[in-house]
Amino acid sequence: MSRVYNFSAGPSMLPEPVLKKAADEMLDYQGCGQSVMEMSHRSKQFDGIIKDCEALLREVMNIPDNYKVLFLQGGCSSQFAMVPMNLMNKNHKADYVITGQWAKKAAKEAARYGEVNIVASSEDKTFTYIPKLDKSTFSKDADYFYICMNNTIYGTVYHELPDTGDIPLVADISSCIMSEPIDVSKFGCLIAGAQKNLAPAGLTIVIIREDLIGNAMDITPTMFNYKTHADANSLFNTPPCWTIYVAKLVLEWIKNEVGGLDKMKELNEKKAKVLYDFLDNSKLFKGTVVKEDRSLMNVPFVTGDKDMDAKFVEEATKAGFVNIKGHRTVGGMRASIYNAMPYEGVEKLVEFMKKFEEENA
Ligand code: PLP
Repeated sequence: MSRVYNFSAGPSMLPEPVLKKAADEMLDYQGCGQSVMEMSHRSKQFDGIIKDCEALLREVMNIPDNYKVLFLQGGCSSQFAMVPMNLMNKNHKADYVITGQWAKKAAKEAARYGEVNIVASSEDKTFTYIPKLDKSTFSKDADYFYICMNNTIYGTVYHELPDTGDIPLVADISSCIMSEPIDVSKFGCLIAGAQKNLAPAGLTIVIIREDLIGNAMDITPTMFNYKTHADANSLFNTPPCWTIYVAKLVLEWIKNEVGGLDKMKELNEKKAKVLYDFLDNSKLFKGTVVKEDRSLMNVPFVTGDKDMDAKFVEEATKAGFVNIKGHRTVGGMRASIYNAMPYEGVEKLVEFMKKFEEENA
């Protein structure tokens, strides 16, 4: 068996012990004679899985008791509509910071339901930085303030959160969930597709302060109302059972094998440093993001020559470093180095880049 190093922005690698455990239990989950893929979501076994998954998520992320955890479907893209439908409910207005395609899409969707105030944008420099926020541009009466915390395509991250006072901060954490500890109490609502750091595609996580639930717009479809899912403990309809099960295994891995999110952060910093240090000293490659806003998860880089980029991607792929091509809107390369990417994967990539540089610079 030969596994490649997958640098995809998502879906991405899963930890090997998780894949092995899932394979071991594939045909017979804990002696019940069936796979988790086959069992009823109302069964005793699945009840145990979803409860354990939520308890682990709460423990690992240190989620306060006054927050609900919802296991949903529809991807983070559905949240771009669910957030305004559920939260744009007093003044029908929200503040958005535009730091890339995902924030832009979220703002565009929200504008279908109310007034969207663009507080700041980094589009002037192809989203290579997180804009410094000036409070005078914040709305005094916004129903919420929205950021995309880690910008998967452009490789930037907020190292400091905006101070929004009493206005609930909503953050898309799709590409940084579980990569380091975050203070959940600073947010009104967190949304994330699970397919990068938590599970296979198909699960969407919402972590929301309880007092923000229950005031959705009248037009909100039942399935788009957070209250529907909060009241039913995420079992209003058939949830993505298999994906929730794998999320539970990933959380067990983070808790028991990694040692929690502080440790996860340490490993991620060590991994990212190898690549950033190389990029900072390379004669051929260079990172595209300003140093102070660099993401630990997504590392875009270029040679400055499209043909050379294409040659690198081709040779890297042949050498077993797959999905390293940059997003179609940016070009160049992007190494997504989520939790499950082993340190050796990044080390070997850097060795390969050094060799490529020697041969091509
Ligand atoms: N937000 C961010 C930061 C993402 O990286 C992505 C997908 O890559 C999305 C939202 C969209 O998520 P989904 O594909 O789950 O709808």
